[in-house]
Amino acid sequence: MQNFMSRSLNTRLLSLTLCGLTSSFAIATPTAQANRLETFVYDLTDSTIAFSLKNDIEPKGTVINNPTRIVIDLPGIIYQGPTVRRRVGRGVQSVRVGQVDANTTRMVVELSPEVTLNPQDLRLKSSQPGRWTMKLPQSIAAIDLNSVSNFVLPITGAAISSGFGWRVHPITGERRLHKGVDFAAPTGAPIFAAADGIVTYAGWTNDGYGNVVELRHDNGAVTLYAHTNKVYVSKGQVINRGQAIAEVGSTGRSTGPHLHFEIQPDGRTAVDPMDYLQLRQVTLDLASNSFKD
Ligand SMILES: [Zn+2]
Repeated sequence: MQNFMSRSLNTRLLSLTLCGLTSSFAIATPTAQANRLETFVYDLTDSTIAFSLKNDIEPKGTVINNPTRIVIDLPGIIYQGPTVRRRVGRGVQSVRVGQVDANTTRMVVELSPEVTLNPQDLRLKSSQPGRWTMKLPQSIAAIDLNSVSNFVLPITGAAISSGFGWRVHPITGERRLHKGVDFAAPTGAPIFAAADGIVTYAGWTNDGYGNVVELRHDNGAVTLYAHTNKVYVSKGQVINRGQAIAEVGSTGRSTGPHLHFEIQPDGRTAVDPMDYLQLRQVTLDLASNSFKD
């Protein structure tokens, strides 16, 4: 375990002590003075972790081996909510934010075992009070660039209306696994192929998915686009990533126009597509205590 330093201490210690006092008084007026994590962003385009705090403190950075990870502790920072973790890729495998004890927020960057990290290569920098950045070494960025997912978002400017996971179905009322992610979009909005592939199904289905396009990709993965209004492609057709293959609709068992999108990496089992799409930025949304892309 090796520490890497952030910047000089001196007057910072005073503010830390004051924060400690304030939070012990805060029982009468909860959270009013609590020092909080305000933002946390991992920008994959320049391999930089950035975070900001309501009031400044001195973060403590540590590199731990087996498995390799970067731990940044924020003493005096309250993180309300359970630990959240976001899978990222091959070099940086995930980022995690949570509270390690009553008064310390911990951020962890989990790295591939193939990464060897010299703590000297890491610097936590503060350009203005409460704002911190840490650039990851080029060796990590290079691994991630090599392993960039082939899948891109199949729709532009659409919000996620329902994520992957167990839910009570809005129409049937049954509790079942929602095998994809729903993007709300107006009828007619174009749907794009998430990767190069070949059309293995195009047209109506009787299983509630309405008009469907299914693509098989080089690596055996399958992507599925459901409830479409119109299908632009036919079975056997070769498709390029980003090509318009259908348009958004509300066919099948659907309460309104949206795209239901699935990824089956092994061609059979659907996983959370958001874990497999190309990422540019991972942002912690503190209001919902979840990561957003
Ligand atoms: Zn759906």
